Amino acid sequence: MVSRRSSKDTVHYVIRPADLALHLFEVTLTIASPDPDGQVVSLPAWIPGSYMIREFARNIVQIRAECEGRKIRLTKLDKHSWKAARCDGPLQLHYEVYAWDLSVRAAHLDQTHGFFNGTSTFLQAHGKEDLPHVVDILPPDDGDTYANWRVATSLRELKARRHRFGTYSADNYDELIDHPVEMGEFELIEFDAHGVPHEMAITGKVPNLDSARLAADLKKICEHQIALFEPTTKRAPMDRYVFLTMVVGDGYGGLEHRASTALICSRSDLPVKGQPVMSEGYRTFLGLCSHEYFHTWNVKRIKPAVFAPYDLREENYTPLLWLFEGFTSYYDDLTLVRAGLIDEKTYLGLLTKTLNGILRGSGRLKQSVAESSFDAWTKYYRQDENAPNAVVSYYTKGSLVALLLDLTIRAGTRGKRSLDDVMRALWRRYGRDFYAPKLAGAFGKGVTEADIDALFDEISGLSLKALLDKAVRGTKDLPLAEAFAALAVSMTPTSKPAKPGLEVRTRKEGNDCKLASVHEGGAAHRAGLSAGDVLVAIDGLRVTASNLDATLARYRVGDTISLHAFRRDELMTFSVDLKADSVTQYAIDARDKPLAGAKLRKAWLKVRA
Ligand SMILES: [Zn+2]
Repeated sequence: MVSRRSSKDTVHYVIRPADLALHLFEVTLTIASPDPDGQVVSLPAWIPGSYMIREFARNIVQIRAECEGRKIRLTKLDKHSWKAARCDGPLQLHYEVYAWDLSVRAAHLDQTHGFFNGTSTFLQAHGKEDLPHVVDILPPDDGDTYANWRVATSLRELKARRHRFGTYSADNYDELIDHPVEMGEFELIEFDAHGVPHEMAITGKVPNLDSARLAADLKKICEHQIALFEPTTKRAPMDRYVFLTMVVGDGYGGLEHRASTALICSRSDLPVKGQPVMSEGYRTFLGLCSHEYFHTWNVKRIKPAVFAPYDLREENYTPLLWLFEGFTSYYDDLTLVRAGLIDEKTYLGLLTKTLNGILRGSGRLKQSVAESSFDAWTKYYRQDENAPNAVVSYYTKGSLVALLLDLTIRAGTRGKRSLDDVMRALWRRYGRDFYAPKLAGAFGKGVTEADIDALFDEISGLSLKALLDKAVRGTKDLPLAEAFAALAVSMTPTSKPAKPGLEVRTRKEGNDCKLASVHEGGAAHRAGLSAGDVLVAIDGLRVTASNLDATLARYRVGDTISLHAFRRDELMTFSVDLKADSVTQYAIDARDKPLAGAKLRKAWLKVRA
């Protein structure tokens, strides 16, 4: 449906990098017909995709309101909202945003580039959210110095040429804040995936970047995922897709949006011309791209009911992040093997690492992935030294829940159905039309826990409720070995290394060896050591950050050592009974038999027999 609106109704922003050295964006918001009772505006408290209250309004440095050019009163209502005095219009708000957060979640500006998410820069005009939103993106004032700056964003150009400063637009506020913007002298890599233009803008110096390889590998990932959800039409859910990549010395992260993603990676992760090896860093980077791209379907369109629409003022609780983050984590590496970028052995090695990592934390025995999802705001996103003993990751365990369900459906239907069918059903029912033209600004429908349970049984033809209860809402370890066996994959305990360990995580502080966390049930825990303790000596020999392992390696399981440590600068002595690693670890390997199982496995990983 197309409705005609007068241009009077728009909400108009102008954003300009005002002071690059002070990291300030200057924004003007013009509301043509403000609320006659006094217009309320606010900045989101969180950014969708990152489930923590971040209170972005704290970065607004100055703000003032004008009515037809005259200054009027602006009253602050709470930590992120303001109300302007009555104004017949137009109402203008002028404000500065401090942008010095080098992450994918906020905004960053200096002489080398600018980046912003709308959640950090664009005030929401209450009551006007469903109107068209227009934004002029302007270059820094000193035109000559920044003459080569370009713009990369998936926002729709209204009066702007591709990659140029100018006027961009969105149908509503929800869309406006879902297209981050990068500006600067980035390198641009372009390719198409099933006919849809894709690009990656790379900010930061990367000598000898193998951009042809990057484009070819990304194309494989994107085409595989498009075909997974739309095997017949191969139709992508967007007209255009943009990867915004910030390259730093040491960093990793990504945040998904409906037609783009913001990424941070380490320089050493990107491929070098003439070096065709698949380094671990590059494989991890491709996994990150694959993960964020998969979110284009799973969480940006197929969404939990409480995200349709988001309430950006406060926490939006959902027990379903195991599906939206966990399943996305399952498909990110699975895409790499299915697209031929890694082999079967490497893929099973990645699963082994995930499984063994989860088994290290006793938090998995106390919190289900449904509970971890619900408490993401206060626990997963705010991890302290006790996290391994209290929190389970809905990413990693959620990915194993997906694996378990996929293997179970494949075995139970002799390969006729799989998790792919469940994802496609979710897509058809909830995702495909989520942003389709809607009546009066209503949003598409999100999915509930009960919907998911019912859908699994319907699509698989199996009874999976008990398994879902156990895997998602329970805290026992997943019955993965049995599920693997049906696909001719062995999961066997590895023999425990004879060398003793403390079962701690350490942090290097200068030359000091500080305990970052102490794992429940391990030797350090039983001896009374605590996170924060600085290890000093073992049996009178100095311990440093670099020699702890070598020092411990001189002892055998069953030995007792005297360990000195500082706690709040007071020297303490501990008697530690060294024991073998208390956690069972596994090896996961492909087998030739049974033949039927091996055939199912090849179909699962789409590798040749
Ligand atoms: Zn994710």
